[in-house]
Amino acid sequence: MRKITIAIDGYSSTGKSTIAKQLAKALGYVYVDTGAMYRAVTLYAIRKGFVSDTSDNFTALVEALPNINVKFVHNEELGFSEMFLNDENVEKEIRSLAVSRQVSKVAAIKEVRTKLVEMQQEMGKEKGIVMDGRDIGSVVFPDAEFKVFMTASPETRAHRRYKELLDRGDDVTYEEVLKNVRSRDYIDSNRKESPLLLAKDAIEFDNSDMGLVEQFERMHNYALRIIEKE
Ligand code: C5P
Repeated sequence: MRKITIAIDGYSSTGKSTIAKQLAKALGYVYVDTGAMYRAVTLYAIRKGFVSDTSDNFTALVEALPNINVKFVHNEELGFSEMFLNDENVEKEIRSLAVSRQVSKVAAIKEVRTKLVEMQQEMGKEKGIVMDGRDIGSVVFPDAEFKVFMTASPETRAHRRYKELLDRGDDVTYEEVLKNVRSRDYIDSNRKESPLLLAKDAIEFDNSDMGLVEQFERMHNYALRIIEKE
């Protein structure tokens, strides 16, 4: 059976990664969470003091880009890949609200996108990949055979994210999380470089009122139909 490229884009906390992981597993494809790559670069920038709530130095960040090495390392025990920043496992730290608060600014920088998009295209050049992000169907793989755009209301998404953060022991309020979801939606949709948009050949998928099993079944059937047609 020929392999295809599956591009899953959409707003933050729409459950893209959950579905993308399940699809990749069912099809025997590689899964790539591109948000983790933007988050790792952001963590580096926070640690170096290049970005914060009060001041940003994007020039210094762009100059430091050659020193920032991000890579996925497969964890056999857990059965999924974890993000490494310059050989340090940062999988947990990149999911914090502190990183979420800065990431959309960093992801709007052209040079950051150029570097990460090049890596993403390299990872997907053999196809057989499920990649999730904001610009996968529009910029990274405009020729992807299956493009999905996931949406859900900001409140639904903030509730999901809030629960995730509480489960990992973070000290946050629902209001803070909702504010971050809305702010990232705004920056991601309005930036000049590769804004989040619904590619014209993508299928839109609103999962506000849909359980995980139904979502997976629909997407899996859709993917299989495309694969069989190839
Ligand atoms: O997917 P996740 O919410 O982890 O992504 C974090 C942030 O990274 C997004 O809010 C967005 O600003 C940025 N991003 C992006 N392009 C991608 C993936 C993520 O701009 N392909």
